[in-house]
Amino acid sequence: MFVYADNAATTKIRPAALKVYQEVSEKFFGNPSSLHSAGQRAKEELERCRQAVANILGCEAKEIYFTSGGSESDNQAIESAARAGARKGKRKIVSTAIEHHAVLHTLKKLEKEGFEVVLLPVGKNGIVSLDEAKKEIDENTCLVSVMLANNEIGTIQPVEEIGGYCRALGVPFHTDAVQAVGHMPVNVKDLHCDYLALSAHKFGGPRGVGALYARTGAPLSNLIEGGAQERGKRAGTENLPAIAAMTEALQESVKNLPEYMKRVSALRDKLIGNLSKIEHCALNGDSVRRLCGNVSFCFEGIEGESLLLLLDDKGICASSGSACTSGSLDPSHVLLAIGRVHDVAHGSLRLSLSEDTTEEEIDYMSEEIPKVVSYLRSISPVWRDLQEGRRSFIL
Ligand SMILES: *Cc1c(COP(=O)(O)O)cnc(C)c1O
Repeated sequence: MFVYADNAATTKIRPAALKVYQEVSEKFFGNPSSLHSAGQRAKEELERCRQAVANILGCEAKEIYFTSGGSESDNQAIESAARAGARKGKRKIVSTAIEHHAVLHTLKKLEKEGFEVVLLPVGKNGIVSLDEAKKEIDENTCLVSVMLANNEIGTIQPVEEIGGYCRALGVPFHTDAVQAVGHMPVNVKDLHCDYLALSAHKFGGPRGVGALYARTGAPLSNLIEGGAQERGKRAGTENLPAIAAMTEALQESVKNLPEYMKRVSALRDKLIGNLSKIEHCALNGDSVRRLCGNVSFCFEGIEGESLLLLLDDKGICASSGSACTSGSLDPSHVLLAIGRVHDVAHGSLRLSLSEDTTEEEIDYMSEEIPKVVSYLRSISPVWRDLQEGRRSFIL
């Protein structure tokens, strides 16, 4: 059996999106900046997409900027707010310890330039609190950035509350909604955000395309110079086929959102229930306030990397933490933030489901994962130490 359970890393492109990609490539091949009719038809198609994305997010078309994806959108939002803040002498940025590296590494860079960066802690359930945010947000704060849903442990953050608090104080607020868009309702008005990042390949669109919502009036500076595309804020000939395919994927994802969420969260809970029966393991992140497709566990006494390789042999594609973390020996910053010690954090497994996930796949994973965990424990010196009392169990 082949089971793709790594949809938080990337999704398979939806057939309808792929079809649109090809059709738009053939039909609207002109450059939207060209004055001739082929260019103008492409321009119209581009603006149709912008309006469609805006309708879904609850904003105006002119507040949507097409980018190369989530990372670029996060970078641009953060840099824009930071530069504007610095011009007013405000150099404090408040974010969380569990953000994606696209946010954290941008903040690191700004910190080197003299910004003060405060990362809010999260509770054991992987959720940041409004009270913690209130303690840090002050008159020197030029940006607050809190992700909507975490990519590793799937926890959904109180973005509406934090956004509302920032709005009342007039503090710019950004949310990385890359894991959320297409998987739960997302409306920029409800979230009270000034910036929002999304990425097509996380909801069945193509790679290398995304969008940044920037509220009218929110400062926006360029990362890429060179042309007047995207109202002068993002140079480069627009990737129209990808933008149209993203729009199609987004429309399709939100069309059946309630049914999708209901069906997939039932599969998620079944898998969580089954894997919880394994001894000395723990679910990462809140069991209720989590993405409908996210299952994340730590298993004591094993290495996540070995687990992934053996699961791959059984046809199961999973992840330990995030795609960006895997390959490095440092344990995930997200798992450390929820209080997992290094050894435990190393034994992590993330299974991220999709619309295509079946009951049979859940049953297959529920059967195979415990076997692989047992096997790895049987050959693990750490597990022997735990069994023989030379170390004590944490989970
Ligand atoms: C995937 C992801 C990103 C990066 O998006 P890309 O389009 O791959 O650059 C940013 N934030 C989160 C939460 C993500 O899951």
